[in-house]
Amino acid sequence: MSDPQPDLVVVGAGIVGAAVAWRAAREQLRVVLLDPAPGDGATRAAAGMLAPVAESWFGEEPAARLGVAGAARWPAFARDLADATGLDVGLRAVGTLVTAYDGDDLGELRRTVALHRTWGLDSTELTHADARRLEPLLGPRVRGAVHAPSDHVADPRAAHDALLAALGAAPRATVVRQRARRLRTDATGAVVGVEDAAGTTHRAPAVVVATGWQAGDLLDGLPVSVPVRPVRGQTLRLDAGPGAAPRQVVRGLVQGRPVYVVPRDAGTGTGPGTTPEHREVVVGATSEEGPDDRRATAGGVFALLRDARALLPGLDEAALVEATPRARPGTPDNLPLIGPTGVPGLHLATGHYRNGVLLAPLTADAVVAGLLGRDPDVPALAAADAGRFTTGNLTTAPNRGAHR
Ligand SMILES: Cc1cc2nc3c(=O)[nH]c(=O)nc-3n(C[C@H](O)[C@H](O)[C@H](O)COP(=O)(O)OP(=O)(O)OC[C@H]3O[C@@H](n4cnc5c(N)ncnc54)[C@H](O)[C@@H]3O)c2cc1C
Repeated sequence: MSDPQPDLVVVGAGIVGAAVAWRAAREQLRVVLLDPAPGDGATRAAAGMLAPVAESWFGEEPAARLGVAGAARWPAFARDLADATGLDVGLRAVGTLVTAYDGDDLGELRRTVALHRTWGLDSTELTHADARRLEPLLGPRVRGAVHAPSDHVADPRAAHDALLAALGAAPRATVVRQRARRLRTDATGAVVGVEDAAGTTHRAPAVVVATGWQAGDLLDGLPVSVPVRPVRGQTLRLDAGPGAAPRQVVRGLVQGRPVYVVPRDAGTGTGPGTTPEHREVVVGATSEEGPDDRRATAGGVFALLRDARALLPGLDEAALVEATPRARPGTPDNLPLIGPTGVPGLHLATGHYRNGVLLAPLTADAVVAGLLGRDPDVPALAAADAGRFTTGNLTTAPNRGAHR
């Protein structure tokens, strides 16, 4: 006997699509998740900073509010995933040290602290001595530092592995390793399913497009505008022995260039000679307007290492084990598109740009609430309305969610 029709097809199994599918399966929806290479998009490169404070920027208060709401969902999300799978997603509530390399960088950092104060975000300027007490490996030339105690970090690869494990164990979820070729519509224009590259059509009353920067491709011909573009970024993975890894996340400006260094727990090192004390350390990230070219550039790797070791000279001892370029899904206003579109049956979960890990749990909860006709009750989500780029905004049109 063939499987019953799913309630929902999710296209794209990065951290966002996989989180949506898992939350939907927990709500007893029957879910098909389509992706030829789950987790191999931007999720693979991401460092996993959950940093709405350090990421906040002038003119982007709605993004900061959304980020704060997103960060609040992480502890329960990590706990639920651990309960479902026994897997640890590397959530570390360690805070973030934001540093300034020279006097100009310090001026810039102080402007952002003033902004934090205006928006009620938690950050405090530290003396050099206090900064070094928090992070003894900080280089002697670093001019100043700010502590953002509520900016934490998770391991996106571990979280994605846990999501796939949870989906594998969920009786109502199926992961199909195929590319979606096109969305199927009916005579009224409603989206009624997805045809995959093998020619199979997965019919469902609701489809969530969560294909990262490629979201626009699938929506050609539909009356919805999804202006998502690739913004390439490169991260490096180091294997750091005892004494070479910082204790906590260190971000910084080095002569105007942003850089970050994210240590994982002991035991996460890789490669020959690694020991239980070794840690993975992620250094990132470049930002290049351009296509998803997966070759690291010499200039990108050089600049990241130069700036990271300006803040933390001890990194010289670490082994360089991986360079990972991937494209972020950027949007014109740096905010994601989350929820129903106004095209019946079509929901979006894309455009998360630099914050898709931070926002994955909130996005999943919001999309599933939309599917079930519930109010997600998060005011900050208004800025991420999925129909905001569509002329004659369709989001008030009747929307068809998943039927239970
Ligand atoms: C260098 C770098 C560092 C980053 N650091 C952070 C960070 O510290 N914190 C943070 O919060 N965010 C970070 N981000 C951003 C974050 O990685 C993204 O916002 C997030 O991964 C987006 O998740 P996603 O699931 O939407 O997209 P992706 O992870 O790109 O997944 C999209 C998936 O869709 C699939 N797909 C595409 N087309 C189709 C199709 N037609 N059919 C089926 N499947 C398809 C792809 O195979 C892929 O698996 C970083 C990104 C980069 C590049």
